[in-house]
Amino acid sequence: MSTIIGLEAAAWDLKLREPFGIAGGAQHLAANAWCRLELDDGTFGLGEAAPFPAVNGETQRQALEDLSRARGLMVGRSALDWRRRARELTEAELAPSARCAVESALLDAWCRRARLSLRAFFGGHEARLVTDITLPTGSVAATTEGARRAVAAGFTRLKVKVGGAPLEHDVARLRATLAVAPEAELLLDANASLSAAEALELAASLGRERHRLVLFEQPTPKDDWDGLRRVREGGLQVAADESAQSARDVAALARARAVDVINLKITKCGVAEALDMALAARAHGLELMIGGMVESKLAMGVSASLACGLGGFRYVDLDTPMFLAEEPTRGGWLQDGATLSLEDVEHGHGVDVIR
Ligand SMILES: [Mg+2]
Repeated sequence: MSTIIGLEAAAWDLKLREPFGIAGGAQHLAANAWCRLELDDGTFGLGEAAPFPAVNGETQRQALEDLSRARGLMVGRSALDWRRRARELTEAELAPSARCAVESALLDAWCRRARLSLRAFFGGHEARLVTDITLPTGSVAATTEGARRAVAAGFTRLKVKVGGAPLEHDVARLRATLAVAPEAELLLDANASLSAAEALELAASLGRERHRLVLFEQPTPKDDWDGLRRVREGGLQVAADESAQSARDVAALARARAVDVINLKITKCGVAEALDMALAARAHGLELMIGGMVESKLAMGVSASLACGLGGFRYVDLDTPMFLAEEPTRGGWLQDGATLSLEDVEHGHGVDVIR
């Protein structure tokens, strides 16, 4: 039967070691939420909602309201037809971060009951991922120090948040990063804040080091697909993040030849839609990236399971648990430098909440 008998949610304020700055603003605290979904045999699953106001305006309050609304939609229903449950959450117009939490908890419970890892459930393609690490927006000194620490910790791909400041400021940050991380590859993420011309100017400012810029994520506004295409035609690999919220967006971006890569985030659209986006991207010959908002290992453990299960993700950006001041979870992946190993996760995503 696997009937859902309970769904509880709570605010989950996660203190950060340093502000997580992007072009649209900084997050000083991840005001998230978590939920616990219980099945009729006592098995339970956990999920996380990570609203990031500066990205899409979603808030913790809305996530909690929608999680409370989800209880009425879920309790008494079967967990086995999980895609139908996911569809119902979408039709009820729940905020994406709340849908992500409920779908995660549902699949976690389902897999724990089946004594199956979520990674195996998604396909079991591989057990390890190598993540990049983010250098948030901020001063040249902070970026330089972050790059230095990242290199010492074994990271070879640095994702630099750009935009929201004069271009010269970002040029200085990138030059400093390249200087202290001479072997590293660079990813840039403008979070939809630049024009195509500015993005190309920023890339050109790297001069002879430009080949180290392997990906420019969302240089231009969400709806400026011409801009994305222009950056691409300027010789850069471009990823869609804010522009890609659904499988339909992925197909349209591919037809418009606007991007090379799709950044999947379960927090943008829920788990079922993220799977559909991955399949749409593959069908259209686009590369895949897995990312997230500012999340603990609870949400990122689901994303890691999805990426490992499907396999072949070219870019992995599952670094925000490292930004938390205290570890709020137990279990999940084992980390060694930039490598995340899910080999020992036995049931579900394997992550429990401890504070
Ligand atoms: Mg992004």
